Amino acid sequence: MKLMGLPTCEEIEQFAYAYLEGQLEPEQIKKFERHLQGCANCKRFVDSYREVARPERLAQTIPLDPDFERRIIEFLAKEGG
Ligand SMILES: [Zn+2]
Repeated sequence: MKLMGLPTCEEIEQFAYAYLEGQLEPEQIKKFERHLQGCANCKRFVDSYREVARPERLAQTIPLDPDFERRIIEFLAKEGG
């Protein structure tokens, strides 16, 4: 995976899993986080994703925007879980 320059919002969504799993290079993490600092939507997406990605959180009710939830579920389905 490659991040050239600052990632776009689309790339943030694509790399959210790798980011939360610690699979990004330090350089990529820096760019990723810099985007989050300037983009409330992506920050919210990653925060939501972080909560959803935790198995122990799945049993709890998470106040999520239905659209975000749908996108996360689609993302997880695409990744094969
Ligand atoms: Zn963004």
